[in-house]
Amino acid sequence: MKPMRILTLNCGSSSVKFSVFETSRILIAKREDRNLVRGLVERIGQDPSFLRIRVSGSGEKSGYQRKVIAAADHTAAIRVALEHISESVEGEIEAVGHRVVHGGVKLGRSCFIDDDVEKEIENAIDFAPLHNPHNLSGIRAIKELLPGVPNVATFDTGFHRTIPPHAATYALPRDLVQKHNLHRYGFHGLSHRYLVFRLERLLNRSRDELRLITCHLGNGCSITAVEKGRSLDTSMGFTPCEGLIMGTRPGDTDPGLLLQLMIRENMSVQEMETLINRRSGLLGISGVSNDFREILAARARGNENAALAVDAFCYRLKKYIGGYAAALEHVDAIAFTGGIGEHVPEVRQRALEGARAFGIKIDPAANEEAGSSECKISAEDSAVQVWVIPTDEELVIARDTARCVEDLRMLST
Ligand code: ADP
Repeated sequence: MKPMRILTLNCGSSSVKFSVFETSRILIAKREDRNLVRGLVERIGQDPSFLRIRVSGSGEKSGYQRKVIAAADHTAAIRVALEHISESVEGEIEAVGHRVVHGGVKLGRSCFIDDDVEKEIENAIDFAPLHNPHNLSGIRAIKELLPGVPNVATFDTGFHRTIPPHAATYALPRDLVQKHNLHRYGFHGLSHRYLVFRLERLLNRSRDELRLITCHLGNGCSITAVEKGRSLDTSMGFTPCEGLIMGTRPGDTDPGLLLQLMIRENMSVQEMETLINRRSGLLGISGVSNDFREILAARARGNENAALAVDAFCYRLKKYIGGYAAALEHVDAIAFTGGIGEHVPEVRQRALEGARAFGIKIDPAANEEAGSSECKISAEDSAVQVWVIPTDEELVIARDTARCVEDLRMLST
């Protein structure tokens, strides 16, 4: 089938990340699908908003621009993005792939968005109140701005639907678990999937033979154990608050402690929600910032709380890596991505130090040098390969969208 132009959208509360890919199953198989445009609208709803756009290639339209724009809401932001895309890219957009954080109870595989799917995404707002509403804004904006162009949803929770019951279960009463669908949903699935896909290529082995640990360390942080290309366990749970220490979320915390805190501080549910989503994690421990760069700078000035934040972050990560190595029984490769995963060698080194029992040996020089491109940081004699891999969630969205479109075309011919 002919290559398609696929637009991808990743809508946050005040930003829209967009990109355009030329892709098709044949191009994917030949690894010739390619990005044409990547961009971001920031500060939506504020004055001014900004558009950043990079057009790939070496043509006269290629290059980077940053502009002040007016974007009162997501629809306005996407309208401006579409105008810039049509100036830079020839050909029509044939389908739009949306990142949707939570597919709720029913949705896992990427699928076309009809009224029923839209309703399910809306029903899943309770699971992801900070994300799904904005994902829906993007879907509704495209329905208005590109009527007739099919929309596909790709779910961050989708990758983790293979987690077996013993890893997904919370040890809570069955009746409540069933009534409220309480189990580990997991997040960052598009990013973990990308890492699996790249590791398969980089190790030049079939995913069926591989046992992997993938670490996404950005503002939100999660780690996944992967066997035969399937998620076996992941650190985020029913909500993104569980697991690793993050920018402003605490990760694993004694639930009894949180109850005590509510009683002692006379906290409302809302205040507790703010505490665990916005005031904890690296920000909570350091008292400085949720930004790792600022924490490292504060530590360099002698700030002990900042030093403790880094120590606790690395220790929690190390504990999870060890736990997942035990769960997998054997590890072929570990990958790091996200702002912290890609740019802080100390985190990678400390998370893996002492892991020789698992056959993991870092090459210190390679680890120091690794940055914004793919790089192997394990020593040649390490039994486990360790890689830094910048993630590309947009590519995963575009490929899934192209596959959905081609499947539909096959059915209708
Ligand atoms: P998001 O999860 O919002 O996409 P990122 O993946 O960009 O976020 O990660 C943000 C985190 O990465 C922040 O804590 C930031 O400080 C950290 N980070 C990004 N670049 C660097 C760097 N060069 N050195 C240290 N930390 C960095």
